[in-house]
Amino acid sequence: MNNFINKLTKFMYGRYGVDDLYYFLLIICLIIIILNIFIKSSILTLIEFIILILATFRYLSKNINKRKKENKRYLYIKDKIINYFKYQKRKYNDRNTHMYKKCPKCKQKIRLPLKKGKHTVKCPNCSHKFEVKCSKDEKVKVEIIK
Ligand SMILES: [Zn+2]
Repeated sequence: MNNFINKLTKFMYGRYGVDDLYYFLLIICLIIIILNIFIKSSILTLIEFIILILATFRYLSKNINKRKKENKRYLYIKDKIINYFKYQKRKYNDRNTHMYKKCPKCKQKIRLPLKKGKHTVKCPNCSHKFEVKCSKDEKVKVEIIK
């Protein structure tokens, strides 16, 4: 038993191992396996195998720098997607009191209170001034207190 552990340790030495992308690939594979129980598609089985081979390849890879770059790219894309949905959720929750505009110069997203009419807005990021038109006033939610 000890000999086996020694051999395994020697085999794994200098290999990449697990990271966020590895777990993501396994989760995707698991979802496809569960879906495939009901669908029973040979194409999905092939995709499962490809994902498993890819995850195993990355796990056992000795090109650590390349795997780190792949993981970094994955985390960057994941962050962008999560931030997009957070922004949409916030925009939706504020729909009656605020509007969101992008600065035409630096593309910074700016949250503005709803006030009917034309307004000049100064970007807090680059100090660029631009016009904003607003067609609706702030709606204050009426709450019933019992
Ligand atoms: Zn700006």
